[in-house]
Amino acid sequence: MSNQLALVFIVVMLLLIAVMFAIAAFKKRRRTALFHLDFPAVWEQHIRDHIKLYNKLPETLKQQLKGHINVFLSEKYFEGHQGLEITDEMRVVIAAQACLLLLNRKTNYFPHLKTILVYPTAFVNPNHDSAHAGNLGESWVRGPVVLSWGHSLHGGKNDQDGSNLVIHEFAHQLDQEDGVGDGTPMLEHGHIKTWAKVLGKEFKSLKVKAKCRRRSFFNHYGATNAAEFFAVISEHFFEQPKTFNRKHPDLYQELKKYYQVDPLDWE
Ligand SMILES: [Zn+2]
Repeated sequence: MSNQLALVFIVVMLLLIAVMFAIAAFKKRRRTALFHLDFPAVWEQHIRDHIKLYNKLPETLKQQLKGHINVFLSEKYFEGHQGLEITDEMRVVIAAQACLLLLNRKTNYFPHLKTILVYPTAFVNPNHDSAHAGNLGESWVRGPVVLSWGHSLHGGKNDQDGSNLVIHEFAHQLDQEDGVGDGTPMLEHGHIKTWAKVLGKEFKSLKVKAKCRRRSFFNHYGATNAAEFFAVISEHFFEQPKTFNRKHPDLYQELKKYYQVDPLDWE
């Protein structure tokens, strides 16, 4: 009897594994088809009009970005708040900036993220104690990303101030992919050693500068904790590569290795 039970157990487990593989294969096929789907001309015009960085990308990365946007938009749900009606322009402009973080990398498209909540401008989250009068964005572990549309748009239009709300919040999503937002996203094998060394040193240095109110290249908000540090340096990496690389070359190399792109080439 116990042998029969063990056999049933093994068969059930094998069936479950087979189902899981079938679902994964189906998802992969679906994503590949979406990736190669035609990209509507009007969507591309929204990106050209609002995402300055897009216009600097080489053609191959533009094509790749459009493929990622197709997949992203088919998998994520957008929800307008405070009377904001979500338009295609909003979806595309937000998706384009989020997908910049996926270029050239093996990606699972922010797997824990289902919904993006969009407010017209800065918002107050009633479920969240905050010292600020209004938040511009939030990213929750296994929860939604919350964005101010006004600031998401502004971030796309200004690509040189080292400040980009969408990049910031989606860098948090990458960091949170392993279930914890600690400033260390999932890294390639063998990368953790230099990552921990370089980021640890730079984070410490920024904390000292912020505490003494000394000028620094990075926004002092990055000194809040390791998670904010990673999100803030990601903004500077994509928007101010030249100064970033000149002032913090080791850190620039770490982000270049992680993001698999070199924004210096886009200057
Ligand atoms: Zn943050």
